[in-house]
Amino acid sequence: MNLSQLYQDVIIDHNNSPRNYKLLESPDREAHGHNRLCGDKITLYLKLKDNVIYAATFQGNGCAISTASASLMTEFLLGKTIDEAKYMFQQFQKAVTQDDCDTSQLGKLAALTGVRAFPSRVKCATLAWHTLLAALTQDETCVSTE
Ligand code: ZN
Repeated sequence: MNLSQLYQDVIIDHNNSPRNYKLLESPDREAHGHNRLCGDKITLYLKLKDNVIYAATFQGNGCAISTASASLMTEFLLGKTIDEAKYMFQQFQKAVTQDDCDTSQLGKLAALTGVRAFPSRVKCATLAWHTLLAALTQDETCVSTE
């Protein structure tokens, strides 16, 4: 695993043109995330109807990994239920921290599993997901990966 493998095409693409990168007017849920280790910051906005996520957008400043991860996540979330999103948080967390993990359910999110070889970048890849969990559970509206 080298840096060029970490920055796969899909990460470069989603960093260069992040999907769903915008403010969402009157979101049902909103949460902020901050990865102090790298300086990544994101704000996540969600709209929910009958426990289904039908809009997910984000804004913020971060490195290529955190931006691509948030972009891929917001694409992935559309049409998913809250329970499915929480389940995928766990699957994603495992996939970026454990070797030999089943990534078959991850789809394009699997592009981020390259961070396994770079422990300091795992927080970049998971920041959006920790922020998602905060937005869905609303037990705190500002998360830190520390
Ligand atoms: Zn970062």
